Amino acid sequence: MSEKIRKAGRHVTQSEALIFETSAAGKHAYSLPPLDVPGVEAAKTLGTEQVRREIEGFPEVSEIEIIRHFTRLSTWNYGVDTGMYPLGSCTMKYNARVNEVVARLEGLATEHPCQPDELSQGCLKILRLLERCLREITGMDAVTLQPAAGAHGELTGVLIIRAYQESKGDPREVILVPDSAHGTNPATAATAGYRVENIKSNRAGRMDLGSLRERMTERVAGLMITNPNTLGIFETDILEIAEVVHHRGGLVYMDGANMNALVGVARPGDFGMDIIHLNLHKTFSTPHGGGGPGAGPVAVKKFLEPFLPVPVLEERPGGTLRWNAERPQSIGRVRAFGGNFGVLVRALAYILANGPDGLLATTRDAVLNANYMRKQLEGAYELPYQSPSLHECVFSDKKQARHGVTTMDIAKRLIDYGFHPYTVAFPLIVQGALMIEPTESESQEELELFIEAMRAIAAEAETEPELVKTAPHTTRVKRLDEVTANRKPILRWKPAPTPEAAD
Ligand SMILES: *Cc1c(COP(=O)(O)O)cnc(C)c1O
Repeated sequence: MSEKIRKAGRHVTQSEALIFETSAAGKHAYSLPPLDVPGVEAAKTLGTEQVRREIEGFPEVSEIEIIRHFTRLSTWNYGVDTGMYPLGSCTMKYNARVNEVVARLEGLATEHPCQPDELSQGCLKILRLLERCLREITGMDAVTLQPAAGAHGELTGVLIIRAYQESKGDPREVILVPDSAHGTNPATAATAGYRVENIKSNRAGRMDLGSLRERMTERVAGLMITNPNTLGIFETDILEIAEVVHHRGGLVYMDGANMNALVGVARPGDFGMDIIHLNLHKTFSTPHGGGGPGAGPVAVKKFLEPFLPVPVLEERPGGTLRWNAERPQSIGRVRAFGGNFGVLVRALAYILANGPDGLLATTRDAVLNANYMRKQLEGAYELPYQSPSLHECVFSDKKQARHGVTTMDIAKRLIDYGFHPYTVAFPLIVQGALMIEPTESESQEELELFIEAMRAIAAEAETEPELVKTAPHTTRVKRLDEVTANRKPILRWKPAPTPEAAD
């Protein structure tokens, strides 16, 4: 194939420079009739600063060329719609299309949040029903749908702890967080004005009860715990943990990001949790990533209900719903209107489409898939904790590190095999972690392919470690300098400096 044809994009490895090569002066992607208002001249009427100047070197292309350019770029993305996305802790499950259909129904998509309550009864009923479903799933008593993400839910929850204890004249200073926690947990506690103290994990990968008993004093406002924890291991001492914290007047906050392991099987409200957030963009299949929008509803026990953010949905006699903002003990508003409505609609669609039996089957399949993965890979990769896995499994790069190959190298090589990497180097208690969460969305055939790739990379690490350490090799962009990519990202096209400007 000639270099010219290859570059022109008749082949899969199309060049991003193509748009510059097809550019020719005077091409347009639009055409407007000439301005026919007498006496108007854009620069004079609008002022010169309002009129866009020509950008030196900016490509000039036709409509079909620009359409092809952006469509081509869109095919270079990797997403859950193109392949498995085993990013542990993130629960990158399939975003069912039925959710999208429902969220686009005209009455829902075009509803204005400033409409009076009496004209929004349908939308309010949807929110009310979602609250009810989440109460049922978590075993809690009241829900706010306002928070826009998991971390935002955490902050809402920890502010509720603060408001509750202050209302009892017992303000406290410390939040306990296990050493396996997601980074948002200590960050949240610090943002809410608490000092963070760490609780160690034991050899089984669970929270160390002795360490908790030692730290749990009257200065401690509460514990933030993830269950199953970030090793994918269920905290079997959870009842005792809750009792230790409650006994000293603390509250237990559960990070519910791992609810994909529990929905339909166990309810945090039944095992002593006081507050929990849910990540609808994880467990409940709403779109994930790209900075949102997401949703991180918070569910609480009855005694914490007065502290929920305002406004709160209330049912009037006769069944009409209205927002009530007159709640003197509320922590205040945490988000505009009722939260990210379109996301909430998608989550409800997912819950109703599955029904109770479907949600239970989903949980079971997610756990089954993770355990299949664990069993198939435990010969090739070190498994630092032997306790049973729920919805994800965490390996380490110990075997490969002997050949100088790290979890980051393995992740990069996985891209050559056509997969999105797993989560790298988290949780922090595992040196060189590989955290894999297949979710229930993947078929056995897809799991087999991933397992084959992971085994092949383990073999390469022994025989050809350089190949792994310099990966990826088949991508358009080779291994990036991660620090520069982070600190000085190039996010948009800029004209090359002209020789005069450079002087
Ligand atoms: C994803 C996650 C969070 C944070 O949720 P966001 O929606 O990303 O803010 C917190 N804890 C755990 C364990 C998570 O996996």
